[in-house]
Amino acid sequence: MEKDNVCIDCHNQVDKVAKILKLGQAELDILTIPKRILTFSYPVKLDSGEIRYFTGYRVQFNDARGPTKGGIRFHPDVNLEEIKTLAFLMTLKCTVVNLPYGGAKGGVMIEPKRFSEAEIERISRGYIREIKDFIGPDIDIPAPDVNTDSRIMAWMLDEYEKIKGRHVPGVITGKPVALHGSKAREFSTSMGGAYVLGEMAGALNLKPAKTSVAVQGFGNVGMNIARILHEWGYKVVAVSDSKNGIYNANGLDIKDVIAHKEKTGQVAKFKGAKDISNEELLELKTDVLVPAALENQITKKNANNIKAKLILEMANGPVTTEADDILLKKDIMVVPDILANAGGVVVSYFEWVQNSMNFYWSENEVLDKLKTYMTNAVKDMSKVCGEFNCDMRKALYINSIRKILEAERLRGNLAQPVKSA
Ligand code: NAD
Repeated sequence: MEKDNVCIDCHNQVDKVAKILKLGQAELDILTIPKRILTFSYPVKLDSGEIRYFTGYRVQFNDARGPTKGGIRFHPDVNLEEIKTLAFLMTLKCTVVNLPYGGAKGGVMIEPKRFSEAEIERISRGYIREIKDFIGPDIDIPAPDVNTDSRIMAWMLDEYEKIKGRHVPGVITGKPVALHGSKAREFSTSMGGAYVLGEMAGALNLKPAKTSVAVQGFGNVGMNIARILHEWGYKVVAVSDSKNGIYNANGLDIKDVIAHKEKTGQVAKFKGAKDISNEELLELKTDVLVPAALENQITKKNANNIKAKLILEMANGPVTTEADDILLKKDIMVVPDILANAGGVVVSYFEWVQNSMNFYWSENEVLDKLKTYMTNAVKDMSKVCGEFNCDMRKALYINSIRKILEAERLRGNLAQPVKSA
């Protein structure tokens, strides 16, 4: 097999379980070399009349279990290596929650704040014209990611349907509800994380009213999970945004914090709470810590100071590999991102199913089904933790890699069955 396209970071991730699963070269190749990589440059007319070229990517990592699925991000740091890694992680994430999907990711190297709304629309439509022959409800289904939202998904859907000359709502998910989107999609990532925490808390005998929670990040994911956990009776003692954090040992009223943030643009200076820094928030003595802002927040520098009993990774990659090892030694449980924040892709799957049936579910129906998928994924993971006597991250990797390779083997793409220890 051609090795030029190997994803180095994916290799590092797969290496963690390669020995346990006794992976051979063919298996390693399947898990570290994306199936298809598109790199392109395309012209867009700016408001000034100037023509600017943009660099875009779409990586379809593995489709053994179904059409590939993954978001499109608009960010100046977008590069091929990052998109390959994110496509690999989507392949694992879809398998962790048992969706009939492979994994993909796409992006445009762009600082969106520098462009007008009309320019963003033309950049979005141009991106779809470049990938139109490589996507489709049975091939690859994009979705929102960093700096892309339901409004952009609507433009992308419209462009694709104009090209094809027919309605194809299942080509993209994360659409507005008025344009074939799903109910509950907006807070599905947070609700999925809350269901996972509910399962873990049950197993650890943590009662909501006696469980203190700190949440880093007060955007879509952080604000919604803080709101949901507060509504479920958990004691949310601290929250933060990029500016600062707030703390009250007796718990914060998250409804009031949301109103304060809407009014003032920040969570800081909330009446009845103490202002704290983001660093202090991470090191608070709470039962649960929910990093829901950025990657690389818990590193070898601060891992030794973390006092929470359980970390729920709602952001992507908030704990570095070195920090993970330190936390493991300190007996701090880490619920990995590929499970904790998979609620968004589960409801994206429900959106795709509803599009294919042309029949739409109520919010309660969506949430009931989401709960089933998330709790089943926790049970699957716990079984593998017991089988291999390992931490949650290893268990999720083992379980999803076994399933991906099994699908490849059944297709005749691998000669030998996967050997387990
Ligand atoms: P968002 O932009 O809506 O919110 C990010 C929040 O983080 C904001 O409140 C911002 O103020 C805060 N923040 C930024 N820098 C910070 C810092 N240094 N310290 C503390 N807070 C800081 O983004 P989001 O959609 O909520 O995503 C958050 C994380 O969750 C990201 O890692 C994203 O990849 C991941 N995620 C999101 C979804 C989803 O459905 N939105 C799905 C899966 C994973």
